[in-house]
Amino acid sequence: MSKPAPPVQKNDTIEVTFEDLTHEGNGVGKIDGYPLFVPYALPGETGKVKVIKVKKNFGFGKLLDVTEASQDRVDPPCPVYVQCGGCQLQHMSYQLQLDMKQKQVKDAMHKIAHLSDVPVHPTIGMEDPWYYRNKVQIPVGQDGERLKAGFYRKRSHEIIEMDTCMIQDEHNNRMVEAVRRIAEKYGVEAYNEEKHRGVLRHIMVRTGQTTGDVMVVMVTRTKQLPYAEQIVEEIRETYPNVKSIVHNVNSKKTNVILGDKTTVLYGDDYIVDRIGDIEFKISPKSFYQVNPVQTKKLYDQALAYADLKGHETVIDAYSGIGTISLFLAQQAKKVYGVEIVAPAVTDAKKNAKLNGMNNAEFFVGEAEKVFPWWKSQGLDPDVIVVDPPRKGCDEELLKAMIEMQPEKIVYVSCSPSTLARDLRILEDGGFETQEVQPVDMFPQTGHIENVAWLKRK
Ligand code: SAH
Repeated sequence: MSKPAPPVQKNDTIEVTFEDLTHEGNGVGKIDGYPLFVPYALPGETGKVKVIKVKKNFGFGKLLDVTEASQDRVDPPCPVYVQCGGCQLQHMSYQLQLDMKQKQVKDAMHKIAHLSDVPVHPTIGMEDPWYYRNKVQIPVGQDGERLKAGFYRKRSHEIIEMDTCMIQDEHNNRMVEAVRRIAEKYGVEAYNEEKHRGVLRHIMVRTGQTTGDVMVVMVTRTKQLPYAEQIVEEIRETYPNVKSIVHNVNSKKTNVILGDKTTVLYGDDYIVDRIGDIEFKISPKSFYQVNPVQTKKLYDQALAYADLKGHETVIDAYSGIGTISLFLAQQAKKVYGVEIVAPAVTDAKKNAKLNGMNNAEFFVGEAEKVFPWWKSQGLDPDVIVVDPPRKGCDEELLKAMIEMQPEKIVYVSCSPSTLARDLRILEDGGFETQEVQPVDMFPQTGHIENVAWLKRK
């Protein structure tokens, strides 16, 4: 029997009752079984919807009016929430955000990993899920004599001006505004993307939330930043806790924010932050978790799952600047980290020294290549920790992990679907998933972080 034609047509206006939410936070309503995805609609609500796209098996609509609102509907506090697109979940209560993230992980465990019985715990949320990001990168544009700084409009490169981003650390917000104002005062021209002309492209600010250290990076198309000395002087006068002012040159036509050349205009080429008892030096280009408060909770959970007694050999794959490795090294005999970005490994080594830890060793390379080599050298880990990018672990790496037969694996993941895919492979290779803990690292947005714990069967 062939499928019936969709029961709606483009531009129809209909009343829809919503039953579910997608991963992106869209409401799902069904019309005679045909799913319609509608941004900003919540489960339990009824609303007037204009149909904007009709495909064979599903369609999209625009919410015109909510006729019966969910108890979980809240007024998005940010005035540019809808235009900006950086946040997707501000219209729902924080509790619903956490529940939705847990459900998404459960679904992935069920549908992709075929592990319906593995406990997926309630998402660990933030006490105050606002003003949490420690790093901001804001594009700069020209508006007559004025400079404007703000995020891009959803699916465009039009800059939406704003005073405050409500998921950014207030230091970052104030610093961006100060740099914008000072650059404007000295007549620094904004970069024009279409013509590939002009000067100032982005303002990047990073804050060490435990130390109060602030780093400012001004990214220009041109080799020179005009009035650099005066600008630095004024930034320092305005914000005495600025520890580092950096000029980065990016002359390319690209969406990548930072270019290759970095010059320190004032202070150090790094700032310091702490997670738990460990200090980290962070350079302009290093990957560093954007929500350190939640990172601490994530790492504590990873450490609890590793359950180290002090005699263990541990491998930390995808180790970045060594954050998880050094956390583990507090309780293990020896930790080996592997990371593909060489400067991050240099940072990791410095960070080990900075904390007086000499039981962590770091290697540059692809984890999937270094593991087989380690095995050939007789390295026999008790615990393996992985924290891959969104695409998950390389298949070769999973194979090597299975061959190494550690007692435990702790898998930190920013993508429920690739986590579930890899857990299936590890299960088939002789490991058993014990539990999964979602941690909300990115409140108000659809991103989800997890830590999973496996034992050898
Ligand atoms: N564990 C760190 C970093 C996690 S982000 C932290 O919590 O801060 C993932 C890291 O994997 C990045 O630093 C990225 O550079 C690195 N990476 C990506 N592909 C890799 C590969 N094939 N082998 C090793 N590292 C890789």
